[in-house]
Amino acid sequence: MITGKNLIGDNYSSNGTTEFKTFNPLTNEETDFVFTEVTPTEVENACNLANSAFKEFRNKSDRERSEFLFAIAEEIENLGDELLSTYVTESGLSKERAVGERGRTLFQLRSFADMLMDSNWREETIEEKNNTVFLRKKLIPLGPIVVFGASNFPLAYSTAGGDTASAFAAGCPVIVKAHPMHAGTGDLVAQAILKAAKRTNMPNGVFSNLNSKGYELGIQLVDNENIKAVGFTGSIKGGRALMDIAAAREEPIPVFAEMGSVNPVVITQQALNSKSDYWARQYAQSITLGTGQFCTSPGLILGIDSELLDSFATVLSKEIMKIESSCMLHPAIKESFSKLKKEVMEQEGVQRLTTSSSVSNNFAEQTVVMVSGKEALKNKSVQQEIFGPFTVIIKCQNEEELIAVIDQLDGQLTGTIIAEKKEFPYIQNIIDALQQRVGRLIFNGVSTGVEVCPAMHHGGPYPASSDARFTAVGLHSVRRWLRSIVFQGFPE
Ligand code: NAP
Repeated sequence: MITGKNLIGDNYSSNGTTEFKTFNPLTNEETDFVFTEVTPTEVENACNLANSAFKEFRNKSDRERSEFLFAIAEEIENLGDELLSTYVTESGLSKERAVGERGRTLFQLRSFADMLMDSNWREETIEEKNNTVFLRKKLIPLGPIVVFGASNFPLAYSTAGGDTASAFAAGCPVIVKAHPMHAGTGDLVAQAILKAAKRTNMPNGVFSNLNSKGYELGIQLVDNENIKAVGFTGSIKGGRALMDIAAAREEPIPVFAEMGSVNPVVITQQALNSKSDYWARQYAQSITLGTGQFCTSPGLILGIDSELLDSFATVLSKEIMKIESSCMLHPAIKESFSKLKKEVMEQEGVQRLTTSSSVSNNFAEQTVVMVSGKEALKNKSVQQEIFGPFTVIIKCQNEEELIAVIDQLDGQLTGTIIAEKKEFPYIQNIIDALQQRVGRLIFNGVSTGVEVCPAMHHGGPYPASSDARFTAVGLHSVRRWLRSIVFQGFPE
């Protein structure tokens, strides 16, 4: 059952007087789940507890932390249908998606648990002198971490998502600022983490889950001296605000923010010549997947002005209009989608390709527009992330203009090249330019769908992420919460 309270270490607390409810975007009404906003004193308590828990938690063995992560996965599974139905109610996403995302969450937790049993995850490096160990370098945890749950992944990037799992693996206590759009889902997962912490004898304060609707809680947490790093998924505006607060502290701390990306796709004339309709169908699916509410959703397609590109654009638009529109996560996200979409469509030279259709309440109108490379170079606002099923096709006069457009793109999570293999010698300049702007380069595929494995890199030059050197997905994401220490001249 949803408690509606803040979890502060091992105790539930609701000293505040302000309450809020979550929202069901499908029925367009508030849910029955009521949450009490956390007070500044409760926030302070959670941060102090996390600091004292760190002393014990960092000295738990890898096996003990591994058992904690396995136990969290088990307790989340034990939540059963209540978790799935709460997820669906608060997000408007399907039960199928809820099951899939829960599977990914459990997989992530168990992958980090397995990683801890691999003796070299701390990357121990040894330098010997006179046949004895002289230097021994290894990674150790930073301290308590604040995690801002993502609106678009209520499970896999929220309460017990990738950030929390990797921070626990590293040996860092976690305070979650629950996303107010799915606070009930977070409440249930927080209960599972508490049960797992008790079962595996973890210290009081290893985990807290705090509720609030508004910026004050996040600001207080990032500014608290006991917090040593932040994980964030959301808007550029939000991520940047938190980065600035963290940088202005007496002791600045890192904010690992995963923010906006339009995931540019370059499609060559030869690819259009041989498989135009195939790629149009693939991209119609990718653009509308999850109502376009993925950080890897393709929002920009670049090609050379030609009849082939026009025909691709027509088929893509027709295919997109065939797909039934779907519900967005929240009225605020729908409102932002509609506003930004309108702003872009009003820009000079922007031509709408999909016809206008009426959609109910929080459903998204899937839209494709086209603009020339010349206009795109003049007006960067047509290249901004519009969170939802919206794509801009940029038709460039020639390769030189196409590369100029790529060169002035903001940093991106992904970039994709659709081409024939035999074209490789001729598209090196495009590959080289795109490589400078992205964290993952895809050949003949779609950017949606992020494999969770050590070889994945989910991050990119700013503003795709705050630090392009780190990934938010996969086992290497643990490095965000670790620092190096070297022991010199110590006995074995
Ligand atoms: P958001 O507005 O950035 O909020 C994310 C979290 O950060 C929320 O808990 C929010 O608190 C907090 N926050 C935001 N700005 C803050 C600030 N200035 N100071 C302190 N805390 C702050 O993102 P969202 O609510 O998830 O969605 C809004 C938009 O973000 C979307 O429409 C989309 O454009 C973008 N987004 C992008 C991605 C991506 O993967 N690229 C993913 C999700 C969202 P409160 O909600 O309590 O105010």
